[in-house]
Amino acid sequence: MKLESKVPAGPLAEKWDKHKFDLKLVNPANKRKYHVLVVGTGLAGASAAASLAELGYQVTTFNFQDSPRRAHSIAAQGGINAAKNYQNDGDSVYRLFYDTIKGGDYRGREANTYRLAQVSVNIIDQSVAQGVPFAREYGGYLANRSFGGAQVSRTFYARGQTGQQLLLGAYGALNRQIGLGNVKSYNRREILDVVLVDGKARGVIVKNLITGELERYAGDAVLLCTGGYGNVYFLSTNAMNSNVSAAWRAHKRGAAFANPCYVQIHPTCIPVHGDYQSKLTLMSESLRNDGRVWVPRTKEMAEKLRSGQVKANDISEEDRYYYLEERYPSFGNLVPRDVASRNAKIVCDAGHSVIPDGNAVYLDFRDAIKRLGRDAIAGRYGNLFEMYERITDEDPYSVPMKIFPAVHYTMGGLWVDYNLMTTVPGLYALGEANFSDHGANRLGASALMQGLADGYFVIPFTIGDYLTELGMTDKVSTDHEAFDKHENDVKEFNQRLLSVNGTRTVDDFHKILGKLIWDYCGINRDEKGLKFAIEEIKKLRAEFWKDVRVPGTEKGLNLELQKAWRVADFMELGEVMCYDALQRAESCGCHLREEYQTEEGEAQRNDKDFAYVAAWEYTGRDETPVMHKEDLEFNFVELKTRSYK
Ligand SMILES: Cc1cc2nc3c(=O)[nH]c(=O)nc-3n(C[C@H](O)[C@H](O)[C@H](O)COP(=O)(O)OP(=O)(O)OC[C@H]3O[C@@H](n4cnc5c(N)ncnc54)[C@H](O)[C@@H]3O)c2cc1C
Repeated sequence: MKLESKVPAGPLAEKWDKHKFDLKLVNPANKRKYHVLVVGTGLAGASAAASLAELGYQVTTFNFQDSPRRAHSIAAQGGINAAKNYQNDGDSVYRLFYDTIKGGDYRGREANTYRLAQVSVNIIDQSVAQGVPFAREYGGYLANRSFGGAQVSRTFYARGQTGQQLLLGAYGALNRQIGLGNVKSYNRREILDVVLVDGKARGVIVKNLITGELERYAGDAVLLCTGGYGNVYFLSTNAMNSNVSAAWRAHKRGAAFANPCYVQIHPTCIPVHGDYQSKLTLMSESLRNDGRVWVPRTKEMAEKLRSGQVKANDISEEDRYYYLEERYPSFGNLVPRDVASRNAKIVCDAGHSVIPDGNAVYLDFRDAIKRLGRDAIAGRYGNLFEMYERITDEDPYSVPMKIFPAVHYTMGGLWVDYNLMTTVPGLYALGEANFSDHGANRLGASALMQGLADGYFVIPFTIGDYLTELGMTDKVSTDHEAFDKHENDVKEFNQRLLSVNGTRTVDDFHKILGKLIWDYCGINRDEKGLKFAIEEIKKLRAEFWKDVRVPGTEKGLNLELQKAWRVADFMELGEVMCYDALQRAESCGCHLREEYQTEEGEAQRNDKDFAYVAAWEYTGRDETPVMHKEDLEFNFVELKTRSYK
């Protein structure tokens, strides 16, 4: 397997422009002769499909929800970054690039990250033109707020519903193309395999989730915009249906899977509150603009709090430990997510948790309400406060919120080159599904930016280069024998699952898997734990194939069968995540290896040996995967120890 990043030569700021000029163009009259299959219609997929159709390509989209509008992207609350410098507070394309590459602990690709910062400004213009109702200042200018890991205000937002509003914009653009007949849109379809002909991606095998029938679709290129794999942990902030199966099937067909152990654990989520929970809820990072994070300074005070002898509001100022403000005075509560999560775990492990039978710290708005008034806080975060109250039955205007880190976003994903193509020709990955521009840690408000950059501004340029080379006459139909073979593979897999006929539910296995990965490949990891987890996951997989019970048949709607596919794939992925975390004998970003820390408990990178992307190759069922390295070159930034002090 060869990993050619295809990063163009030349000065950083000119690479993308030069590359766009060097890429071959498809003649406008010929675009309709090419057919692109877009799997997933979240922000990445909807923006890509709408843009490609607008250019004149024939596009077919698939998603497993009942409408593109219901993709997981609608959950995004806090905002989207762009280097507009509307605040005149010192922002620039270079600063956004710098913050992002530094925020990712120098484990991202320099050229991609710079391009992301460059096109960020176009995304805002595009979305405003579509009517996305970003928050505005009194005078009419678009408003900004701050997010973690940055000292400028560059986050555009629509109250706490930024993802939903951006998706409505992209969905509107997509609908226009559906109406014009350039896009065929299939809802309630799940892609179960990517079809390769002569080594190129030429189609997909799809399950109609209502009838249970398998369907075949052929095209000239396939775009996987299928989101992240955070649900491998069972509990996460992701939509319940988010899964890795499309990317994993592509991986098994030859697409390398990069940096699977880079998983973002978000510091501000509602804590786990019982064994029967199936989902965790994010409280947006934007809340850290005004909320102060603290725990009781002493273990004794924490104990009194947990046993109900004192209430949070009774604890005096000197008895409160604002640990982020004290440890990181220059960024305070706005340190990046990996740093905030790790510190929450450290204080809770040290006995300062604010809840009995679990872990939580406070996020307190008392001072902000005193300073700005309740109405101002309600204006900024009203819907988030309401959501918190509905879930916890506590009023965050009068008592501090209780929060704890939870799995949230995956920086790992399908390896892609600068053109967003995977190691399989004609197969692209966009948005959270690719291994992304965020390195080992993603800064807040930059996933929406990346998904929309990929869809609106990168793929429309890069795909033409591949299609012109493919030519207009090299067509494949669904009668091709490759489709028979792939469809048979899918049927066999279904049969394998249905015929186990064991005693345990799919969820039972998923919960055990999730806990294993959370315990040993979560906020912190170590060699012993990772080796243990690998052996346990192997055993769990063997048990799954002996004892899982999948009721029903292939026909019609069968949610358990759907889940079983996904969990079977999560089990394989989980093992590779542990291999990946084990080989990376350093700490970087979200990947904190206990053995590699500074005396102050900060991540200790090893640039000499680990400044690479780890891309895994599938080698067969029950075989150990093979790792390939893409060395990361840093020609424009100096690799420094990340400090937010
Ligand atoms: C609660 C929450 C809040 C967030 N807030 C922010 C924020 O404020 N700012 C920010 O930048 N980021 C935020 N994020 C992250 C961001 O929302 C996501 O990273 C981003 O929306 C992912 O977009 P996507 O298009 O890549 O994937 P998704 O939106 O996950 O879309 C995936 C699509 O793929 C389809 N799909 C998947 N598998 C298959 C299959 N096998 N067959 C057919 N279709 C398939 C789905 O139907 C869906 O249409 C947040 C995330 C969460 C969970």
